[in-house]
Amino acid sequence: MDNMYKELTNGLKMPRLGLGVWRVEDSQAADAVEWALEAGYRMIDTAKVYKNEKGVGEGIRRSSVPREDIFVTTKLWNDDQGYESALKAFDDSLERLGLDYVDLYLIHWPVAGKYKDSWKALEEIYASGRARAIGVSNFHQHHIEDLMTTATIKPLVDQIEIHPTLTQEPLRKYLDDESIAVEAWSPLGQGTILETPELVKIGEKYGKSAAQVIIRWHLQNDIIVIPKSSHEGRIKENFDVFDFTLTPEEIKQINELNIDERLGSDPDSFDF
Ligand code: NAD
Repeated sequence: MDNMYKELTNGLKMPRLGLGVWRVEDSQAADAVEWALEAGYRMIDTAKVYKNEKGVGEGIRRSSVPREDIFVTTKLWNDDQGYESALKAFDDSLERLGLDYVDLYLIHWPVAGKYKDSWKALEEIYASGRARAIGVSNFHQHHIEDLMTTATIKPLVDQIEIHPTLTQEPLRKYLDDESIAVEAWSPLGQGTILETPELVKIGEKYGKSAAQVIIRWHLQNDIIVIPKSSHEGRIKENFDVFDFTLTPEEIKQINELNIDERLGSDPDSFDF
């Protein structure tokens, strides 16, 4: 895992650790992105619905890191699902970002009756080269199996809620078997689990915070991870995780914190 990139099945190298920007104001996003790129991050995860694609694009342009070294993900929002509307939504995202391609375009949620048509649009966008990879988010196994009845390209990534209290082992096993890269959203449990005594204690051993221990747990489980922060110090802290290694016993101890508890909606019952 010590490699900083995960190779997707099409050969594209995806950074294993990126910055998530949900709930970062558009006006703050450029600073956050610039700090992250300075700290060594090479991936930014945004979405149309986060309303900060403009700020993300500005941060990328402000930084001295070349565009081709940065992996940008954005997502198709639920209201835009369907073939024609997805094509248009993608163009609009590129325009807000001020980019001529993204690295990864995801269907944000599996909107019933629509995601297969949306996927046709994503396949076309991928063929045009304007998204270097395409994937899904919040898809359970059955959503992917259903999608594959009409898809010609298998999703390269599934971005799902994963943290120590929702480890999603069965879905991760399925995705591994299908060679679909696993990416965690709310990897720090939205900050709610950072005082968990077991995590704090493991951190003390290495001189690391609970957040850093959790990020390391994701990485060592082959999970791509996108912790969010808009504070310069925390952005740096969350990237400073490449100088220690959790033992197999510690990984197991963290796995055992699982209580299958979601912070977000279940993809089978979301209502937005
Ligand atoms: P997260 O689990 O990354 O937690 C972020 C929160 O943890 C911060 O707001 C802060 O309160 C705290 N925090 C972060 N670093 C810290 C540190 N070093 N010390 C102390 N506290 C710290 O939460 P998230 O934003 O929900 O998830 C990360 C990213 O995942 C999002 O920003 C977004 O890009 C993506 N996401 C995607 C979906 C989806 O449906 N695909 C849903 C939610 C989030």
